[in-house]
Amino acid sequence: MTDPVDEGLKIIQSKPEGVLQSELWKEMGIDSRKCSRIVKKLEDDGLIERIEYKKDGVKTYLLRTKKMPVNPSDLLAGDELIPCISCELECIVEECHPLTDWMYQLAIIEHTNE
Ligand code: SF4
Repeated sequence: MTDPVDEGLKIIQSKPEGVLQSELWKEMGIDSRKCSRIVKKLEDDGLIERIEYKKDGVKTYLLRTKKMPVNPSDLLAGDELIPCISCELECIVEECHPLTDWMYQLAIIEHTNE
């Protein structure tokens, strides 16, 4: 069974523009009180931000994933920069050869550093 906190986070992460709390609990098929506890946990863990929002005169919250600063070293496999940075291809991540090659390179480097 999926952890409801993980499930809530996945839904919020899947919507870069954010999701309303009043819609999240409906989408998850849980009641609003349980949803509030999940949202509080995610907010306390620093994973999401909660912004006051009024919809049809009713107060709710817009939930968005918190933007994390990227560690530049995470974009490198050795001295090779992740190909997405300068990519002009039509992106289908699951079928991307440049990214697969880069990840392969990363795996080799990490394996040799063990
Ligand atoms: S995953 Fe592949 S196609 Fe998509 S942006 Fe990265 S390099 Fe480009």
